[in-house]
Parts: sequence; C-alpha cells; structure tokens
Amino acid sequence: GSDKVIAALREQIAAQQLNDRANVIAVGCMGLCVEGPVMLMLDDMTFYQRVKPEDAAQIVNQHLLGGQVIERLVARDGSGDRAIPSISDIDFFSKQTKIVLRHCGQIDPESITEALNVGVYQALGKVLDGMTADDVIEQMKISGQRGRGGAGFPTWMKWNSTRNSPADQRYMLCNADEGDPGAYMDRSVLEGDPHSLIEGVIIGAYAIGASQGYVYVRAEYPLAVYRLQKAIDEARQYGLLGENILGSRFSFNLEIRMGSGAFVCGEETALMASIEGRRGEPRPRPPFPAQKGLWDKPSCLNNVETFASVPEIINRGAGWYAAFGTGKSKGTKVFALAGAVRNTGLVEVPIGTSLGELIYDIGGGIVNDKTFKAAQLGGPSGGCVPKQHLNVPLDYESLSELGAIMGSGGLIVMDDDACMVDIARFFLEFVQEESCGKCVPCRVGTKRMLEILTRICEGRGQMEDIDQLVELGELIQETSLCGLGQTAPNPVLSTIRHFREEYVEHIRDRH
Ligand code: SF4
Repeated sequence: GSDKVIAALREQIAAQQLNDRANVIAVGCMGLCVEGPVMLMLDDMTFYQRVKPEDAAQIVNQHLLGGQVIERLVARDGSGDRAIPSISDIDFFSKQTKIVLRHCGQIDPESITEALNVGVYQALGKVLDGMTADDVIEQMKISGQRGRGGAGFPTWMKWNSTRNSPADQRYMLCNADEGDPGAYMDRSVLEGDPHSLIEGVIIGAYAIGASQGYVYVRAEYPLAVYRLQKAIDEARQYGLLGENILGSRFSFNLEIRMGSGAFVCGEETALMASIEGRRGEPRPRPPFPAQKGLWDKPSCLNNVETFASVPEIINRGAGWYAAFGTGKSKGTKVFALAGAVRNTGLVEVPIGTSLGELIYDIGGGIVNDKTFKAAQLGGPSGGCVPKQHLNVPLDYESLSELGAIMGSGGLIVMDDDACMVDIARFFLEFVQEESCGKCVPCRVGTKRMLEILTRICEGRGQMEDIDQLVELGELIQETSLCGLGQTAPNPVLSTIRHFREEYVEHIRDRH
C-alpha cells in the first residue's frame, strides 16, 4: 500500500504549495513489515506506522505545518499505554545492529546520487587507490566473515583459492536466488540498497582477479531485478563498472541472470549450469568451482548478504567487524522473523544474539500472549530450536549442535498450538518437490520419507515408522549429491529429536 500513501502525500504537499519545503522519498524496506506501510519524518525522526492514503492530509497539516505528532499513528509500548513516536526509542529498531541493512529504508534505491551521498563506493575507491588483492583478502581474513549463504565457509578462503587458480578468465558470482520459504533478506538488499551489493561484488572481483560477474536473481523478484539493473546502468555511467574503473587498471563488467524459481539453483554448481543455459542440476565436486566453475573457469560464488557487508569491512576496518559476533562466527546476521511473533519483519543482530532476545526484545514476544514452543531456523534445510534453548547464542556452532543451521536466516516462530509433525511435513513436501531428481537418495528417499510422514499425519502410522524416518533421514544426509538432499531430512530429524512425543501421540491416538 506504500505507493498509494506516497502519491497521496505528494498530492497534499503540492496542493498546499509546499514543494520547496517538503519532499517524499520512496525507500526500500525498513524491516518492520507487520506495521507497514511505514514512514519516517526526517525533521524530528517520528516514525509513523500503518499509514493510509487518507492520513496524508493530517500528516501534512498537523505534523508538517503544525509541528505536532499524530499519536494514533505512532508505536506504543508493550502495555499499549505509552506512545513512542521516535524511531530511536522503538525497541525493534534500537536493539538491532545494522551492517548489511545499513542503508535499507534510508535512501532512495533508484538514485546513485543518494547512494554516493551516504558513502557507497568509498570502499571501492579505497581499494583501487593503493590496496592490492592480497591486502583485500587479508582484511577479509582478519574480519572473520563467513559466507552468509548457509554453509558458513570463510569468505577469504574462497576468494584466495579462486585467485590462486591460474586462468585467463575468472568469474565473480552473486547468489540472489533466495528460495527458502519465509526468507527475504536478499530481496530487501536488492530492493533497498543495490549499490552496496554492486560495490561488494566489484571489490570481490578485484580480489580474485575477475573481469566478469553475474548476479543470479530469481525472476519472481521483479522489483529487485528492476532496481538492480537500474543501479548497474547508473554505476556504469559513473565509471564504477566497465573499463578502467575509477581510472584504475582494473576492469570489471556485471550482468544479471534470472533464474526461474528452482530451489536447487541456489546450489552453486546448479546455479552455474543455469547461467550457462543448461538444466540447473548440481554436479559432483571436486573439481570445485574455485578451480573449475562457470564455463570451466575459476569462479567464486557469494551470497547477497556477504557482499553487502564487504564495503563496511573495508571502510571501518576488519577489526571493527570482528568485534561483533562470537569466537568463530563474526559480524551480524539478518533474520526474517515470521510466524507467531508480534513484530514480523527483517532484523539484523550480531551473531551470537540469543533466540530469546530476538523473539522477545526485538520481536515483541508471542502474539495473543501465547507461549513460545519452538523456532524453525534455516527454512527447509534447517531445524527447530525448542524453548529450553532460548538462551543459546545463535551462531554456526551452537545451532549445529542443536541439529539446526543458520542457513539463510529464515526464522519461523511457533506457539504452543503448532504441530511439529505438520511443520516437518510442510518442509519435507517442499524439498521433495524441489529435488532435481539427479541422485537416488534424494529423489527416492525424500519421497519415501514423505509417504511415512503422511501416513503418520493421517493416523495410519506405526511406532516403527519413527525409527525408519531417522534411519532413512541419516542415510539421505550422508549419501545425497548436493546440499539440498544432504539437508532435506533436517526438519524431520530435528523435530523427532526435540519433539518425539508428538510423533508418538499421532501414532498412539490412532489406536
Ligand atoms: Fe538433485 Fe537432490 Fe541429488 Fe541435489 S541431492 S543432486 S537436488 S536429487
């Protein structure tokens, strides 16, 4: 509904002949999706939520001209008593640490001038003005950043091994094929701050010695594709892409390639096959893409969040970045809060923040004052974290001990009404449908698992079905060719691990 609100505000401003005093800037997502459409008054930082086109006249007359806050449009505290007008006093915003999303919701994503005004491309200038590729890789190493695509592989290692593969051509690739149900952080960056992503890709390309790059985006993100393309075109006009970038000897070209929504194309070798115009199927590794990737040339694939952080690491320093996070998991992570939590939306916090802080301090707690039961982290490849682990720090190591993963950052909160067997079936159904069918364990195994789960859900299960699910799940994890199959059983295995009694109840209730 934002477009209509923007149009109504502009109309009011024009009608009152205030064009020289007021301006409406359309920005990307500010994160608090549940309260949208939202707007921020830049004169006094008042944050208005659930704004309707019919509020435009009052906003202009009362706030803009009269200097008075409109109480009914501002946030309220937990009890609903106290009005909280200023964005800096709203817990949802003040308790976050934004590195990836630093400009999202702050600037007009369709204007390179606005991006330049807030310092985008300064890191690129710094890199091209005296840093060697080794310097950049060293900074990434010190920062401790690990790829945000799910596996958590150190970024510098990927860059280093691609750089060290002898070749006449290397490729830098960005994975924006965000397919997890419930995850939309990549989309938010593409729609809200495309220039920071482009800057991160160019810096990465410089580090690995690539002259060509591709951003692989799903075609279901038309606004993201439009804004990214506009940003690429503008960057080219400003000499930030193409031959001799900013007058240096470094040349790099960047293009968009659109995927058609196959979940498996988020897997790096399938993504490369798709860019080449072939069927998006994974292939065995080795050879690894760092040696033989796109068109058999050394290639490096990183995720949107990973790239978007790179300029900040260069600008503010690797040590600054490494100060966020835990021992082996540095920096921040964006989570998409969804489900039975009050403040659904996008949040960014230092890695190691506990699930409880995310759900209660930032998320505002569980809707309808119900009790928290579990959170599903990492979408269909992830697992659930039950309430006894609310204080566990969300980092790569702690989550894997619990049978969950950080994954892309999808976080679905469930209250006591949720049925964990149904949740597991939902995700298994998803991966079963998305399995590319190339290898037997994933193609046939997930199908068999789904049949067993379905009969448990429909009251036709046997007690031995639970052990069979575990046996089959572990086998699929060990023998599947790619990450999709290797992680497909996770939601089932983790719900059996933490909520076995619910499976037992489903089967026992039948008898
Ligand atoms: Fe395809 Fe699944 Fe095998 Fe991956 S694990 S190659 S998605 S069949």
